[in-house]
Amino acid sequence: MAGVSIHKVEKRFGQVRVIHGIDVEIEDGAFVVLVGPSGCGKSTLLRLIAGLEDVTGGSIRIGGQEVNDMAPKDRDIAMVFQNYGLYPHMTVAQNMGFALKLSGVDKAEIASRVDNAAGILNLDALLDRYPRQLSGGQRQRVAMGRAIVRNPQVFLFDEPLSNLDAKLRVQMRAEIKQLHQRLKVTTVYVTHDQIEAMTMADIIVVMHDGVVKQAGAPLELYDRPTNLFVAGFIGSPA
Ligand code: ADP
Ligand code: MG
Repeated sequence: MAGVSIHKVEKRFGQVRVIHGIDVEIEDGAFVVLVGPSGCGKSTLLRLIAGLEDVTGGSIRIGGQEVNDMAPKDRDIAMVFQNYGLYPHMTVAQNMGFALKLSGVDKAEIASRVDNAAGILNLDALLDRYPRQLSGGQRQRVAMGRAIVRNPQVFLFDEPLSNLDAKLRVQMRAEIKQLHQRLKVTTVYVTHDQIEAMTMADIIVVMHDGVVKQAGAPLELYDRPTNLFVAGFIGSPA
């Protein structure tokens, strides 16, 4: 099992507490969307799961194992960022294989995993191109390819579509969902876009000012919001 368990998690930066005792249980294989207004703590919570920040209270488990003291590279996760973070001087294939190379995976294995990911993401014809020669949607796919080749137990996405135009955003939502249906990797997806949350999530977690206001299936939140914030944010006529 490779669910993610977030128990009484708190994060302070100096004196300022930005995450206030969050509890979330993410089931193995679920597609969970963290949604909420800018500044509510979504990226921070994702970075805590990834180990890019340390919790200042509570605990996080991945696949049943507590990871509070585990370095990011030892956590079985892969993160896709808003700005993709592609290396401009590397080809698509090199970008996708780079992390594996750093971890000492041998060349043949890297080539086979890159080929496999390229097939899944429709990147076969682009493997020798450089990032500047790609469209926004293609760059987004390469960023996902870099995550897929690592065969992680958990995918973390931080507003991955916010740099794309509206039409491409809708298309990429569908591609990411298809990818999830195919690989069934536990996914935590951050967005500030309610529609993206409603259309993509198995479970939506609505955050506000560092707390969880409500978590549940999209229709449950829409039909039965437990507070005015969720009612207003998800947009049901409360
Ligand atoms: P979101 O992703 O929901 O927009 P963030 O998690 O980025 O929100 O930020 C939540 C709050 O934490 C904000 O008030 C932000 O200014 C603060 N914050 C985030 N990172 C840091 C940091 N490294 N140092 C100090 N404050 C931070
Ligand atoms: Mg953010």
